[in-house]
Amino acid sequence: MKKVSFFKKLTQIVRLKCPECGEGNVFRKNKDSINFFPEMIETCEHCHHHYDREPGYFLGAMYASYGLAVFEGLSTFLLVYFFLPNISTFMTALIPAVVILLLSGMNYKMGRVIWMNLFPR
Ligand SMILES: [Zn+2]
Repeated sequence: MKKVSFFKKLTQIVRLKCPECGEGNVFRKNKDSINFFPEMIETCEHCHHHYDREPGYFLGAMYASYGLAVFEGLSTFLLVYFFLPNISTFMTALIPAVVILLLSGMNYKMGRVIWMNLFPR
């Protein structure tokens, strides 16, 4: 694994690129509107790095995904709480929950890419 700067690595994570080369996509671009769930590519199309290194490897990605969801929910809650003071308590709780649900697909993908970058081969 070659040494890259923190910001370059962060850009690769946000763009869902291969943790090894930073060029290949980790997920297929879904143009099919019927298939909602993200589909992961098994090996990098650029450097042939195999993403799934052992059975159960991506179970840990749930921790990264959970962390992202907590961050998004808390951020949304604080924004709603401070910038919409006349909104009901129910809506103050509902809006962060909806935001977390809407971003769940992105959290799933980002969690896996973060996990691969935290624990490379
Ligand atoms: Zn690669």
